[in-house]
Amino acid sequence: VKTDWIDVSLTLKTDVMHWPGDPPVLIERVRDMNAGDTVNLTKITMGAHSGTHIDAPRHFIKSGKGADRISLDALIGPARVIGISARNAIRKEDLARHRIKKGERILLRTRNSTKKIFYKDAFTEDFVYLDKTAAEFLVERGIRTIGVDYLSVGGYKKDGHDVHKTLLGAGILVIEGLDLSPILPGRYDMICLPVKILDSDGAPARVVVKARKVFRNRK
Ligand SMILES: [Zn+2]
Repeated sequence: VKTDWIDVSLTLKTDVMHWPGDPPVLIERVRDMNAGDTVNLTKITMGAHSGTHIDAPRHFIKSGKGADRISLDALIGPARVIGISARNAIRKEDLARHRIKKGERILLRTRNSTKKIFYKDAFTEDFVYLDKTAAEFLVERGIRTIGVDYLSVGGYKKDGHDVHKTLLGAGILVIEGLDLSPILPGRYDMICLPVKILDSDGAPARVVVKARKVFRNRK
């Protein structure tokens, strides 16, 4: 049966590109049927913020909620993919024209996706990110969820700390590491299910979206 769900998650594999200083991803066969074992069995070593993942409030708020206790409502439901042309920092002005409303789940599709920089072997320092004014704007608007198409909502050695704190502190859920290259801006249904890890500051997630059918009102 064909479904219309589109996978917008990155593939985890050994030595996949990761945030500088975070533990690298290592996926090892500790039992291997090719080597005569009766089963295949894999051991995974990685940081909780590898590939496509969510940031739990606990990432930047000392005793914030962990990945096991976040609201699944923020991660399942209608989501809007907004195309952003900013070359580096996304500012408030870049978001203001998009009529962002309270409670929305917003995914930002940027040059990170059009250039597919997440598939490069090395970390890209000048990825497109939200600056502080953009984060504050999203808090003002009262959105529910923000998704971005590289490993961090905030920049590398830029507004990273402030941006995370502003968003997570306001109860906005953060999804990072999306590959939005297969889809265009528009309205979708989204399912994002992070692995349930007790008190974790982040968790890897599989994220899929499906275009929403628009029923035109014929008069
Ligand atoms: Zn993260």
